[in-house]
Amino acid sequence: MPEGDTVYLAATRLRAALVGERLTATDFRLPQLATADLAGQTMVDVTPVGKHLFLRTDAGITLHTHFRMQGSWHLYRPGQGWAPPESDVRVVLRTEPWVAVGYRLPVCELLPTEHDQDVVAHLGPDPLGPAWDRDEVVRRFLLEPGREIGTAVLDQTVMAGPGNVYKNEIMFLRGVNPWTPVGEVPDLPGFVDKLAKLMDANRGTGSQITTGDTRPGRTSWVTARAGKPCRRCGTTIRKGAQQSYEIDRPTYWCPRCQPAPTGTPSGPAGAVPGSTSAATPSPPAEARRPGTGRVPVWRGSVRQSRPRAGPR
Ligand SMILES: [Zn+2]
Repeated sequence: MPEGDTVYLAATRLRAALVGERLTATDFRLPQLATADLAGQTMVDVTPVGKHLFLRTDAGITLHTHFRMQGSWHLYRPGQGWAPPESDVRVVLRTEPWVAVGYRLPVCELLPTEHDQDVVAHLGPDPLGPAWDRDEVVRRFLLEPGREIGTAVLDQTVMAGPGNVYKNEIMFLRGVNPWTPVGEVPDLPGFVDKLAKLMDANRGTGSQITTGDTRPGRTSWVTARAGKPCRRCGTTIRKGAQQSYEIDRPTYWCPRCQPAPTGTPSGPAGAVPGSTSAATPSPPAEARRPGTGRVPVWRGSVRQSRPRAGPR
């Protein structure tokens, strides 16, 4: 499940492999990009912003991708076999030393580089970016002080990058119940600082380790641990659903370490130990961005649930 830090790592690897290299062939296996061909152009930059990735060429073209839940990029040497299945491949960028293969990228479009940042203009500050601004994130959180913190922390217009693992882990680490209204979270600046620090600590690992323990099954405090004892107090970890921007983003918490806020009528309703209920799907925040007037060169969008074989 890519979160901001794993996108950052993917960008680092793609940048090292591709920048300065001439594209010998490109293959866009999306109907919307069927006519696209970047062969002959040279890759000049690879930049992550939150969960967005921008791959730019010297012809002023940007390949913009968003990983959402399931996308990934793999690097291969020419002639090397690719990970299956072939039907998941959306984009192939060939250079002499490397072949970059994009799998299951739900958002994949070509934009004029001069306008490519329009697609992230709505995002909040990125803790892994050069313009990180903790106070601006706090200000954006407090625009809706009544919203549940467990929902707000996934809102990419507040802060770019954090996904479900960090959502769950930061609330455990701060002893905050996920249903607490944002305006009642104690020391919100400290909460944001800690979240940024967690993401930064993992920027080079490709993992989301919050316990400091890299052994399998020990990397998280509460995430994916429903029904198991809390690592701190032994209480059974619970799982529940909150309003979410993307489907399948369950909330995990320890009811003892993260007690329900006092005086709030709406606790974690419907949350039962080990519950597998998922959040009600609602439009991704990404989909609710206002019109930005950008001009796509080519645009493609494919959902994993409806894979389509691209033209070859
Ligand atoms: Zn506990």
